[in-house]
Amino acid sequence: MSDCIFCKIADKKIPSKIVYEDEFILAFDDVSPQAPVHVLLIPKKHIATLLDVTDTDLHLLSHMVKVANMIAAEKGIAERGFRLVTNCNPEGGQVVFHVHIHLLGGRQMMSPFG
Ligand code: 5GP
Ligand code: ZN
Repeated sequence: MSDCIFCKIADKKIPSKIVYEDEFILAFDDVSPQAPVHVLLIPKKHIATLLDVTDTDLHLLSHMVKVANMIAAEKGIAERGFRLVTNCNPEGGQVVFHVHIHLLGGRQMMSPFG
């Protein structure tokens, strides 16, 4: 999608610090990190929100979770613990409408959620 920031990052039209890339997904550091580790995982295909994930695209989400686990292990936070978050629509806190998973870790995560 031409006016989508994350599509532009996936197309390398906007620079990002890439942590992982394959045919289907990209992982890169969040520009405004909320924790020592704050990586965003996106499908390369434009999907606006979680609600727009079709049965055909479900494998992308499981793949993103698998890679998030791998990145957590690489960054040394898997055993200590980490948090995966996907915000959906404005009241869920979604600002960028290209579905993504936040991988957060490296500090104690607080509950309940804000
Ligand atoms: P959301 O609130 O939609 O779940 O999260 C969007 C995230 O994207 C935010 O954490 C924000 O800091 C990050 N973000 C927005 N624009 C950019 C950008 O141009 N580059 C990178 N690396 N992250 C971005
Ligand atoms: Zn997009």
